[in-house]
Amino acid sequence: MEKLLWSIQGKAMYTLYIGNPTLTDNRVLCNSCLSCKAGQGHCCSNIGYVGGSTSGGYGEYVAVDEQSLYPLGDIPLEYAAVIEPLAVVHHAIKESGVKDWKDKTVLVLGGGPIGFALLLLLRAHGATNVVVSEPATRRREQVSEYAQVVIDPVKEKVGDKCRELTDGRGVDVIFDCAGVPIALQAGFDAIRASGLYMMVAVWEKPLTLPCWEFLAKHITVKGVLIFSTEDFREVMQMVAEDQLNILSFLSFLIPLFPGRIGLDDIVEKGFKELINNKDKHQDTSEPEEHHYSIAVEYEDHEIYP
Ligand SMILES: [Zn+2]
Repeated sequence: MEKLLWSIQGKAMYTLYIGNPTLTDNRVLCNSCLSCKAGQGHCCSNIGYVGGSTSGGYGEYVAVDEQSLYPLGDIPLEYAAVIEPLAVVHHAIKESGVKDWKDKTVLVLGGGPIGFALLLLLRAHGATNVVVSEPATRRREQVSEYAQVVIDPVKEKVGDKCRELTDGRGVDVIFDCAGVPIALQAGFDAIRASGLYMMVAVWEKPLTLPCWEFLAKHITVKGVLIFSTEDFREVMQMVAEDQLNILSFLSFLIPLFPGRIGLDDIVEKGFKELINNKDKHQDTSEPEEHHYSIAVEYEDHEIYP
């Protein structure tokens, strides 16, 4: 009897066979800590990652838990490659606790890869009043299709612009995808009283909050990391149902890649290229979230048409 692994678009996916395109949930959970036992694997105190805490995902063979395997069905491989970051932002949006985004004003700080992914998911969640603050011209152009207002924080004061757009109140929710003090200060100025500040970015330095605004505005700051199994499956479903414009996300990411490469070239043309020619693959005109990705051409499957 075959074993049901996953269903997508109402189509049941059974035991894998050699050659089936498959996606792996890259989290490695301990399944024994209090968070795991409470069904909150995203807070696992012993969390690891395939390729980080285990042998690498770029190896010819890798051992993973059967529970973390997802047959892709009709989802193209290049779409599958971005499901993980989309699950991260989907998780952040859900963790905000906001149920109805229609009337919420949202500010996204940073229009890099994670900021762009957030815009796609915010739209899918029904948000229609989204402002992006992004200093890099090219990125402002790229996010303009998905944001109602795009601000250049070098030329405009983010708080003033947000108050102008919200009858003087300030925005309801902020997603910080920048992870730098100057953006955080702008956010604390732009947020309304009792607003929610979602910290998505990973800070390289200790996080210091502007104390007066934090206290006086009664701001709630919430940190988020990775995603739950449910988040991962929901995003897979959204991608399978073509609810997200994945091609636009791939177009956004292409300049950050070293190009199309085969697995045999992953070290020289992938890792070493990113390490040695960092500036070539990173938009250095603004603080970056430090998310790097590598596109891999595997056998006959091409990443981009
Ligand atoms: Zn655990």
